[in-house]
Amino acid sequence: MTFEELNLAPAIVKAVLEQGYENPTPIQAQAIPAVLTGQDLLAGAQTGTGKTAAFSLPMLHRLTQGGTQAPAGGIRALVLSPTRELAAQINENLVSYAKYLDVTSTVIFGGVGMKPQVDRIRKGVDILVATPGRLLDLQQQGLVDLSQVEILVLDEADRMLDMGFIHDVKKVLNLVPKDKQSLLFSATFSDDIRELANSLLKNPQSIQV
Ligand code: AMP
Repeated sequence: MTFEELNLAPAIVKAVLEQGYENPTPIQAQAIPAVLTGQDLLAGAQTGTGKTAAFSLPMLHRLTQGGTQAPAGGIRALVLSPTRELAAQINENLVSYAKYLDVTSTVIFGGVGMKPQVDRIRKGVDILVATPGRLLDLQQQGLVDLSQVEILVLDEADRMLDMGFIHDVKKVLNLVPKDKQSLLFSATFSDDIRELANSLLKNPQSIQV
């Protein structure tokens, strides 16, 4: 299996090959075709398996290929992450995968000043990577509009619940449109994760690596 065979836009394949990736990892080989169909996804994957590219590459493809586009400046994709380190790393990856695309991405997390994050969002951004607390903070101040979100990713959902973010995650789910594509990644599947998945995902494809 090659990245070319996954039907991703050539601009995405070029950026991925420049990262030194030669072939898709198993989670990428399964998740990329599933996400490209537009269906929801429930994915069981540990960290280190290449799951960031597994959701980022088809997400970038869908945001740039045809379809109706939200008004310029609106946040079209939201990635929720449990920690600032993971959030920052996801955003770094997104920036490199989007190198040859006209898609912008930024990251927000707590523990640092809000102003640079707010200034960046005000300029308009297509993809927002966020930890739940800071996202709700900025949303409650009217500084983040989630009403145009077309794709939602919950990354490391089990860690997000372990860290006590369940209420924050549920609040965020109430702020994004009902009609969107949702992707949930988790290393483990407790009853709480299954309940969250059942409430969020519509007729999802399931994959496990
Ligand atoms: P992740 O599980 O998303 O944190 O990725 C783990 C590491 O694998 C990161 O350093 C990625 O840059 C790298 N990686 C992701 N996909 C591939 C691939 N297809 N080939 C080689 N390395 C990859």
